[in-house]
Amino acid sequence: MNVCTRPFRHQGPRIEHERIGRKDVVHNYGHGGSGWSLSWGTGQIAVEMAKAHGRKDLAVVGCGAIGLTTALVAQQAGLRVTIYAKERPPYVSSHRATGSFTPDSRIVSAQFASDFARQWETMARHSFRRFQSFLGVSSNPIEWRDMYSLSDVPFGSPRPVVHSLEPPYPPFERDLLRDITPQWRSVPLHPFPVPHVQRRSALIFNIAEYTRLLMAEYLANGGVMETFVLQDKRDFAAIHERTIINCTGYGARALLADDSIIPVRGQTAKLIPQPGLDYGFYYSARRVSVYPRRDGLLVQAQAEGDYNNDSEALDPEESISAVQRLAEIVEAMGGGRGRRDQKLTR
Ligand SMILES: Cc1cc2nc3c(=O)[nH]c(=O)nc-3n(C[C@H](O)[C@H](O)[C@H](O)COP(=O)(O)OP(=O)(O)OC[C@H]3O[C@@H](n4cnc5c(N)ncnc54)[C@H](O)[C@@H]3O)c2cc1C
Repeated sequence: MNVCTRPFRHQGPRIEHERIGRKDVVHNYGHGGSGWSLSWGTGQIAVEMAKAHGRKDLAVVGCGAIGLTTALVAQQAGLRVTIYAKERPPYVSSHRATGSFTPDSRIVSAQFASDFARQWETMARHSFRRFQSFLGVSSNPIEWRDMYSLSDVPFGSPRPVVHSLEPPYPPFERDLLRDITPQWRSVPLHPFPVPHVQRRSALIFNIAEYTRLLMAEYLANGGVMETFVLQDKRDFAAIHERTIINCTGYGARALLADDSIIPVRGQTAKLIPQPGLDYGFYYSARRVSVYPRRDGLLVQAQAEGDYNNDSEALDPEESISAVQRLAEIVEAMGGGRGRRDQKLTR
């Protein structure tokens, strides 16, 4: 089981320059539930801002999804990069993510959508293009998988109003990426114990392998890695390089006393991998989803009370009950026996 907090900001991620003492710091944090999905594009924007200061040596603070990809983008742009980080993979929050292309997951609240839409589209398209270069790599860092959406009521029918502190989010992917990402299609014949099912292909990140590949590439390019903890803003002065990109994720909240970052807790559990199983599903009414990752079947429970919850304490009951709900669904499909014999109609 794993737990981590998504660094959500109502106004979208903070990607901007700040002069701190003698240092030019470009902030690149606050990517909510979309950090992996937007990593290359947000890295590109931050590196362009950093390059404007004209120095060859760059420090990147943080070695999660955002720091690592930003460092690689900088190397490709010809910069010499040192990463400074408290933790490195596999001990960073990013390593505990679900691992699918979810570029508009808790990335901005609907209230700020129009201000952020253009930048979001730029980074989502850039990232999506970059992910294509990892497809077909023999170790499968990224791959397409079928994902199903299960529902008790027709898709598009009004949902019961749920009173939550969580804001509405704009459906950016549906509205702005339609031309490049697969769309949901109804599946009339299926083995699921629900009346309404849709399917689409989704990009899955096999985070363990993908991260290793990124780390190896960073080091092979001459990248340096230092273990270093910044206690507060003044500690940027202790970094040797004068241009710094700050990719500290949720850590930026304490580091910069930035209360605009809201923690959104997420807990997942991994079951032993089932190499033959090549699809996953979401069943939101039963608050469970499952992803066919190579390092294990990832089961996610959407718990109530995750929003504005910074607890990193594991709640075993939450995952156990999600796995039980999953077991009930699989049982209703004909159990473990013969699932592979049940042909899903395409
Ligand atoms: C349950 C869950 C599921 C998710 N699923 C997905 C998904 O399917 N797809 C997707 O795109 N996104 C997903 N996300 C979101 C994604 O994980 C985050 O957006 C991403 O992890 C943010 O990456 P980051 O590099 O900014 O932060 P982190 O991974 O937290 O990395 C921060 C880095 O900064 C370092 N650091 C922090 N503070 C300091 C300091 N003071 N001094 C020195 N170093 C410091 C840390 O040690 C670390 O190296 C999910 C998140 C959760 C919680």
